[in-house]
Amino acid sequence: MAEFSIIDTYFNQRTSTSVDLGVGDDSALLTPPPQQQLVICADTLVAGRHFPLETHPHAIGWKSVAVNLSDIAAMGAKPHSILLALSLPQIDHDWLKGFSQGLYDCCDQFGVSLIGGDTTQAPHLTLSVTALGWVDIGKAVQRSGAQVGDLICVSGTVGDAAFALKHLGHPLQQRLDYPTPRCALGQALKGLANSMIDVSDGLSQDLGHILKASQKGAILNLENLPVSPALQDLSHEQQWQYALAGGDDYELCFTISPQNYEKLLQQPLDVNITMIGTITDSQILSFQHHKQNIMLNLNGYQHFA
Ligand code: ADP
Ligand code: MG
Repeated sequence: MAEFSIIDTYFNQRTSTSVDLGVGDDSALLTPPPQQQLVICADTLVAGRHFPLETHPHAIGWKSVAVNLSDIAAMGAKPHSILLALSLPQIDHDWLKGFSQGLYDCCDQFGVSLIGGDTTQAPHLTLSVTALGWVDIGKAVQRSGAQVGDLICVSGTVGDAAFALKHLGHPLQQRLDYPTPRCALGQALKGLANSMIDVSDGLSQDLGHILKASQKGAILNLENLPVSPALQDLSHEQQWQYALAGGDDYELCFTISPQNYEKLLQQPLDVNITMIGTITDSQILSFQHHKQNIMLNLNGYQHFA
């Protein structure tokens, strides 16, 4: 019975999008909008691995939704709803209250509904969120579309979360605990960007996924990397490590033709965009600092390393 009272108390609160049938039956029901394709993704967070054990439950709730909305945004899609699979070592009402508030706060901010899930007991706290969204049929922005001559751009700043992880208590911890999925930007890039990815494992590794899928190369201009003021006091080498190999940024990295870049900048955007490089036909990713070639030894986050 405990399982059902947890669901009713914490995870059956409100919906903010149209849902035909939400939490409570064997499955949820949605009516797809006309001419839309379903976009769906899942992300798992394991306590002690994806967030420090002492992280505030509200932040864990927020982040478990935000990282999935970031994946939906990276396709140029509009997020609609989420499902939550929750494995808990024990029932802790204070924790559940904070966690569910954080989860619903993120849902409310981005107009998303919790429509179902699963609740089980397990030795380690594990959260798996599945997110659903919609995009015009055939218009999703994939990793494989980069073209030679495209400008490479990134939203916001990179390296903040990795810096915060090493300096817990620093104001940038907000960026680690409460990442902002770039939902509006992702949708604005539909029809403009040729390829896109969200930056979760470090910019150079994630850009590498675009290059591999598109069979292209790139030159990155290190002097253009957008880093927060706190990182600008560090050596160049340290800044580049955080900006290129730090994880958990949840910014969007995309490639776009120069003409479409101009069109993008004419729209009102809720986040800064920085041009950081160019797509080439070389098949390799190389780095330049004020036109000088730089060799960098970088490692993005790898789960089974
Ligand atoms: P079943 O046994 O049919 O799988 P459950 O008892 O697991 O159903 O779940 C009952 C209802 O509660 C379902 O609608 C399910 O989607 C929902 N649910 C279970 N756990 C969660 C959760 N953590 N968050 C949201 N909805 C949940
Ligand atoms: Mg179930």
